[in-house]
Amino acid sequence: MPEPTGTPRRVGLFGGTFDPPHVGHLVTAVNVRHALELDVVVMMVANVPWQKEGTRRITPAIDRLAMVEAAVDGVPGLEAGRHEIDQGGNSYTADTLVALGRDHPGAELFTIVGDDAAAGLHSWERSAEVVRLSHLVVVDRPGAPVELDGSVEWIRVEVPRLDVSSTDLRARFGDGRPLDYLVTDDTLAVIAERSSYGEALR
Ligand code: ATP
Ligand code: MG
Repeated sequence: MPEPTGTPRRVGLFGGTFDPPHVGHLVTAVNVRHALELDVVVMMVANVPWQKEGTRRITPAIDRLAMVEAAVDGVPGLEAGRHEIDQGGNSYTADTLVALGRDHPGAELFTIVGDDAAAGLHSWERSAEVVRLSHLVVVDRPGAPVELDGSVEWIRVEVPRLDVSSTDLRARFGDGRPLDYLVTDDTLAVIAERSSYGEALR
């Protein structure tokens, strides 16, 4: 719980491409925050998701940020993070943790990932630094269990498993199926008003 000064002491970093942000992300963020008594969970929007580059067209970071801001607006303890966008270039969690630590001196940091992302931890830039600077938190996504590095002390948090992915939502949007209830109404409004988002999906 927050210190009397209001300074966050337990800070969660939940990074993603968020193209778009959906209920799976939000249910994860609020439930991990609750389970681990985090003061804040920062949904950090990747500037350049380098592991995804070249595989498909990525929606401009500023539009993905607008969708995340809309999704967390008014939700206690959830924030949209723009550090990686402001920083520019490729986004590396190790660098972002250093920046978060600077913003919140002395805070305990938690890196939150779905199990698919957790399985790839060692492909991350300077993953040892991520492990050193933060507690690793994993939530399961639907599907077969994935194998995690046993040398890392994972904190596993049970959250409702929602079979929702941004990939599926982009496909739905692309062929005109509704996104209602899969993303927040405010996120839907951003999608509707930002033509660049729609163009990227078609
Ligand atoms: P894409 O299909 O484009 O990869 P995504 O739905 O996997 O999108 P990302 O932005 O890649 O979303 O994921 C950001 C983080 O959220 C990752 O740690 C990922 O594992 C996690 N995540 C995504 N969807 C879910 C979900 N439905 N439940 C729990 N965690 C999720
Ligand atoms: Mg993903």
